[in-house]
Amino acid sequence: NTTYGNWKKINEDDQSKDELYDMKVTFNRMIDHLRENFERQEMFVSDASHELKTPISIVKSYSQLMKRRGSDNPDLLVESTQAIESQADRMQKLVEQMLLLARNKDREVYEPFDIVELCQSTAETFKEAYDRNIFFSTTADNLQVKGSYDQLQQVVYILMDNAVKYSQDAVKLTVSQDVRHAEVKVHDNGPGIPEIEQEKIFDRFYRIDKSRSRETGGTGLGLSIARTIVEAHEGILTVSSVPGKGTVFRIQLPVSQKG
Ligand code: ADP
Repeated sequence: NTTYGNWKKINEDDQSKDELYDMKVTFNRMIDHLRENFERQEMFVSDASHELKTPISIVKSYSQLMKRRGSDNPDLLVESTQAIESQADRMQKLVEQMLLLARNKDREVYEPFDIVELCQSTAETFKEAYDRNIFFSTTADNLQVKGSYDQLQQVVYILMDNAVKYSQDAVKLTVSQDVRHAEVKVHDNGPGIPEIEQEKIFDRFYRIDKSRSRETGGTGLGLSIARTIVEAHEGILTVSSVPGKGTVFRIQLPVSQKG
């Protein structure tokens, strides 16, 4: 009996040691997670401020120029107001996209809908908006995915917008289905993306060619918004690209049960 009692006690001590150890591991993981989130947040604020600094200083220098020399120089007035307006547009776009990234954390109500219809109507919108060949094809008539229609439409818009922006040729939007996934692909024949850049382009504010991207109105936030939305839908957003040949962005989303 005494032997059994001692054995039981040792066993219980070991068990509580194990539990304590598990609690310590969980606690440390929580702290690491919080620290990572905090650092990411800090980084975001610092990147965002950096991005806003340039348009703010352009607005300031044009305003000063107008104040000093605007009264006797109408051309300068026109040039300055145009520059100020375009920088205000840029800041507006940046702020809107930053809000989108922040807001995306509040999970919306997810409903099943047809992703084929979403892509078809997006292709139509792009055909009307751009004087470009936009092709749409699908291997399925109806593919139900569960999610936010508006958010996933935003993702397809971002990818289509980039394809049109960074290439001169036709853009193709395709939908297909494998066993459990709906697959949406955006193909372009543009300059492509070098392999070492292919993961970085999903980072916030990352642009391969900052000056060219600024000319096209890019903020470097589009793809990170797209990936955040797709991942919130338990999907995957990937890129494959051959420099000089073109790029394909691929969204994979779990297919929902019919209904
Ligand atoms: P941006 O607002 O600059 O377009 P994104 O996050 O959407 O920001 O894209 C990040 C960068 O990835 C772009 O600046 C561009 O350099 C590159 N990129 C995105 N899509 C394409 C594409 N279809 N072809 C070539 N480069 C692309």
